[in-house]
Amino acid sequence: MNKVVVVTGVPGVGKSTVIDGALKQLKAQGVEYGFMNYGDIMLDLMREREGVTNRDEMRKVSTGPYREIQREAAKRIAGAAGKNPILVDTHCLVKKPEGYYPGLPRWVLEELKPESIVIIEATPEEVAGRRTKDAARRRDKELLDEVMEHQLLNRASATAYAVLTGATVRIIHNRDGKLSKAVKEMVEALR
Ligand code: ATP
Ligand code: AMP
Ligand code: MG
Repeated sequence: MNKVVVVTGVPGVGKSTVIDGALKQLKAQGVEYGFMNYGDIMLDLMREREGVTNRDEMRKVSTGPYREIQREAAKRIAGAAGKNPILVDTHCLVKKPEGYYPGLPRWVLEELKPESIVIIEATPEEVAGRRTKDAARRRDKELLDEVMEHQLLNRASATAYAVLTGATVRIIHNRDGKLSKAVKEMVEALR
């Protein structure tokens, strides 16, 4: 399978925005990446099997069916591999009502075999501000300490995924008003 780069970060930190900017710049430089949003594939499967139509509601589906759909999504991503490297927009840990759930448990890692894992981070205040301003989504409101805890555990899980796969882990800070700096770092990570 082609090289897979996994990009992660808490909801609303700016993953999709940074990825979009980086892939456009890379394309202009003649570097082509395939792109997959894990949440898009999960949502297609959730619609078919669970009748869930809002992407911010999916994580509330109980762990049994959630895990099966996650497994199926990993197979779809691995099966769609073309000639170019692939970037996967996803999450280290999904905050479910039952607790934190791994975005890349063993069976997902075995399908994707990531070569590198990128974590996008911002301060809890910046994350909270972006969630509030982004009217297109229905992300949860959380206390700043909860955002901090989620980011801390994301680092821990990313390094655990790295230990299992030999992937590298890189942290990119996406600070308010500094989107172009984050995009530049992402371009460097992907080139
Ligand atoms: P999710 O995991 O829920 O899909 P995400 O990490 O993909 O979230 P985005 O949708 O890319 O997050 O960004 C969330 C919001 O933050 C958007 O409104 C985006 O425009 C804004 N945003 C992203 N980066 C920055 C930045 N550096 N400064 C200010 N706003 C930003
Ligand atoms: P996003 O658009 O990145 O916020 O993704 C939407 C939703 O997709 C998340 O809230 C999760 O419920 C789900 N999702 C994304 N990546 C994964 C993954 N690796 N494992 C399980 N669920 C995921
Ligand atoms: Mg996104």
